[in-house]
Amino acid sequence: MGSGSGKSGGGKRHLGTRLTHAARDRKLTQNGVNPVVQRASTVLVESASKLFEPGGWTYGRHGTATHEALRQALMEIEDAKHCALVASGLMACTVPFIAFAETGAHVLVGDNTYGPTRRFCDRTLSRWGCETEYFDTTIGGGIEKLIRPTTKLIFLESPGSMTFEIADAPAIAAAAKAKNVVTVMDNTWSGGVFYRPLSLGFDVSVQANTKYVSGGADVLNGAIFTNDEALMARLKETIADLGSNVSADDAYTVLRGARSLALRMDRHQASALAVARWLKTHPAIQRVLHPALEDDPGHALWKRDFSGASGLFGIVLKASSTQQTHAFLDALELFGLGFSYGGFESLAIHCDPQLKRSTVKLAYGGPLIRLSIGLEDPADLIADLDQALKPLA
Ligand SMILES: *Cc1c(COP(=O)(O)O)cnc(C)c1O
Repeated sequence: MGSGSGKSGGGKRHLGTRLTHAARDRKLTQNGVNPVVQRASTVLVESASKLFEPGGWTYGRHGTATHEALRQALMEIEDAKHCALVASGLMACTVPFIAFAETGAHVLVGDNTYGPTRRFCDRTLSRWGCETEYFDTTIGGGIEKLIRPTTKLIFLESPGSMTFEIADAPAIAAAAKAKNVVTVMDNTWSGGVFYRPLSLGFDVSVQANTKYVSGGADVLNGAIFTNDEALMARLKETIADLGSNVSADDAYTVLRGARSLALRMDRHQASALAVARWLKTHPAIQRVLHPALEDDPGHALWKRDFSGASGLFGIVLKASSTQQTHAFLDALELFGLGFSYGGFESLAIHCDPQLKRSTVKLAYGGPLIRLSIGLEDPADLIADLDQALKPLA
């Protein structure tokens, strides 16, 4: 191995290679393969004149070598110039609102946005005198009509993490740019690997590292990305003012998971597609919500803007009673029943009790189930689904 920086002289190397070799600066690793876990509140400076020097590592809350290593690796994933770490994925979503909205501001939020982000808008942002307007994320360039002189931020998630609609992100970004409105994309579904919001014109991309990036279902963490220095300065100020902290142990855990992200995403993608295609033909299934399926309403946009699909998708059962839905979920042996996704293990949840919409009425005609396809062999997952669906067919 050479310098360990993983930077080639010419073109960019592939993500798997860059993630393997990112953050290998000897200052961060102290000659180990991995960065040191620098647990620190106090960071000692060399001399009195350096106590108030801007930009250095001067206090644990502002990060240590371990945090710097993680940031370097994450910037490889999102192809971003700047990255800030926060305590959770939810905080990565809420910080941009706090940074860019103000009393009297109007913010536009995709109607399929992650529930806790909506709750932040409805409960906390509203108390600060900011108005949240939800929009149907299939609106595309039509969002222009919703932008007011007071609009400060457009926030969206594509695809929605329970309903899987794909937004025309470049059209929304272009409309926002023309009116100087900051755009933020929650990029958690793609793990950052299959979707690059910054390259599609979005100002900010946020990622719940809790999910695919860490991949172990054992840590909560979030990151905020931008290529714009002024926007990052404002985001960093906000994070500093809020007193958010990521422990060095958590930063290390996320980085350790991220090393294998590209490999895992390929497996999640292939297995989920195999399972989705099988489910599509099953008599107990009414519909499969997966943007990589050719007849999915979001397929054309997905094909244009994404380089792949993760392991998270939805199915609509034909059976209609809650009792049947619960019986199906309870019969699953390999799918744990639990929130979150992106870990090594498969998960399932019933979505209906948490679906919220302001602009459109959702009518799937049956219960919506979300599956997170883990790293098990897809043939075993299919066999498990088959036995659990049998009573419904
Ligand atoms: C999980 C998730 C979050 C929040 O991440 P946490 O780390 O659990 O706070 C935000 N957005 C999306 C789309 C998510 O799936």
